[in-house]
Amino acid sequence: CCVLGIESSCDETGVALVDMPAQGLPVLLAHALYSQIEMHQAYGGVVPELASRDHIRRVLPLTQQVLQDSGRTLVDVDVVAFTRGPGLAGALLVGAGVACALAAALGKPVLGVHHLEGHLLSPFLSIDPPEFPFVALLVSGGHSQLMRVDGVGSYQILGETIDDAAGEAFDKSAKLLGLDYPGGQALSKLAESGNPKAYKLPRPLLHSGDLDFSFAGLKTAVMVQTGKCAHAHGCAVADLPVAVLADLAASTQAAIVEVLVKKSLTALKQTGLKRLVVAGGVGANRELRQQLNAECARLKTRVHYPELHLCTDNGAMIAMAAAMRLQSGQQSAVNNYAFDVKPRWPLDAIGG
Ligand code: ATP
Ligand code: MG
Ligand code: FE
Repeated sequence: CCVLGIESSCDETGVALVDMPAQGLPVLLAHALYSQIEMHQAYGGVVPELASRDHIRRVLPLTQQVLQDSGRTLVDVDVVAFTRGPGLAGALLVGAGVACALAAALGKPVLGVHHLEGHLLSPFLSIDPPEFPFVALLVSGGHSQLMRVDGVGSYQILGETIDDAAGEAFDKSAKLLGLDYPGGQALSKLAESGNPKAYKLPRPLLHSGDLDFSFAGLKTAVMVQTGKCAHAHGCAVADLPVAVLADLAASTQAAIVEVLVKKSLTALKQTGLKRLVVAGGVGANRELRQQLNAECARLKTRVHYPELHLCTDNGAMIAMAAAMRLQSGQQSAVNNYAFDVKPRWPLDAIGG
């Protein structure tokens, strides 16, 4: 049984085909991705209207590529899945519309998938898939949450950000350092040659005792610190010596990572679980992975990640989440093509 998945919630168009066996984990047959990042960089962020129009241009060619790469044809598609939310309404509507049109033409059922469930289940596509139950650290561009996950569809939010997401903190700090949108990855690259202890930056809510995050204050502190550095050097931030920018990047990354690691360990302790799953774009961060690996080894706790190239948005995670929902009997695909999207949709309201 083959599930086609379409992702179009933000600025990546992703399409994938997974094989869903009667038993055992679904297997990725092929996936194709087009990132619009370059187009949006000129504006310093995602322009929703441009995003929707570009999804329209990319989605069918990507679908054809996936079918070709997997050696299948449309006739082999048994279920069409799409990202129903959360995300940009216009962008979501493109994926939903194409998915429902394809399914209607083929007489096959459709399934709307929660984007964050896609991120959350993406580690099941890795060569070292987790087993339930586990604590999940979901850190993406729009979300930062710690969850207790007991099975497909059983998601209890233990804590979340009260303002900016971790990815947003990376991106906004990167912008202050003069790096292009979305600067998370570039900031972490720059940080490699910097001293993480060069500047004292706040660790928001580190000792709050709960599992919530707050990153808005950090961004302000980075702004103040870069201003001080520029003043001391008598130049604009963009003209600071690379060594100073690297120290700023390393200090910023250290602040974000320390909070994420500390709170993940607290969540493991509180739940008594011995398994951690990291998902979302920030899960690609090397420093975060190194620190979590070291801490989890010390605590005899297993830690799982998505493949590096599947941390940020992609179609594979959507096809995978759909297949795992279907397998678990959580949901059935339906022959109802009156689609809708949910731009705002909390993960723990997934049943509703
Ligand atoms: P959401 O899934 O919450 O709707 P999103 O889809 O925009 O948001 P993702 O695609 O999961 O988020 O991740 C993108 C984020 O990950 C960006 O903020 C990006 O800067 C960040 N990111 C990607 N790679 C790295 C890295 N190596 N280090 C730090 N941050 C990174
Ligand atoms: Mg993106
Ligand atoms: Fe995402």
